[in-house]
Amino acid sequence: MTLPTGVQRRTVDGRERLVTRGEPVYGEPTDGEWRVWDAGRSKLGAMLALGMETGMVGGGSVLYLGAASGTTVSHVADVCGPTYAVEFAPRPTRDLLDVAAARPNLFPLLKDARRPETYAHVVESGVDLLVQDVATRGQADVALRNRRFLRDDGRLLLAVKARSEDVTAAPEDVFGRVQEALAEGYELLATRRLDRYHEDHLAVVARPR
Ligand code: SAM
Repeated sequence: MTLPTGVQRRTVDGRERLVTRGEPVYGEPTDGEWRVWDAGRSKLGAMLALGMETGMVGGGSVLYLGAASGTTVSHVADVCGPTYAVEFAPRPTRDLLDVAAARPNLFPLLKDARRPETYAHVVESGVDLLVQDVATRGQADVALRNRRFLRDDGRLLLAVKARSEDVTAAPEDVFGRVQEALAEGYELLATRRLDRYHEDHLAVVARPR
């Protein structure tokens, strides 16, 4: 598996961990200027820890949907280029502003990811990566609506939370429905359950059709 430039494997506190270089954000262990990317706190971190080919490239541009207070997007901004971080809840966005203060390439946007037209004037089109981790119903629809920002051979890295779609349905059924809906606009390249780190979550790597 190819790790993005800027993400390394290092032994921290006696264990091999993935790390990026940047200001600590969420109390993660550090080793000098390197900070552990905790797969238990980050679905994208779990995708990398499980060896998925993400197509994430150091220095590339990113639109990140569902940034919350910046746990994962801080690592993304440590290794990528311009990183637009969409979050619709004001409280975590306040924390995200602090995370961005130490990262000039991280741009927090207090916006609803279901309404991409409200940030289309800010986000450059043709981003290399669309990362999505929104705990909401209609996760495939959000990915389809935001496809317009992705370059033709860009990658969607999506974490689907089964319970956000339907609390009563079996996760496998939910994942099947989400994949079917995604296929309207994306070619699915890889899928993997993240249960080892995140219960009832499916990771999807896809590219626009
Ligand atoms: N990705 C974050 C991380 O790894 O650090 C965690 C994200 S948390 C699981 C899901 C986030 O999605 C929440 O902060 C929630 O407010 C946000 N969210 C849900 N629906 C959204 C929407 N329509 N637009 C923007 N953010 C949304």
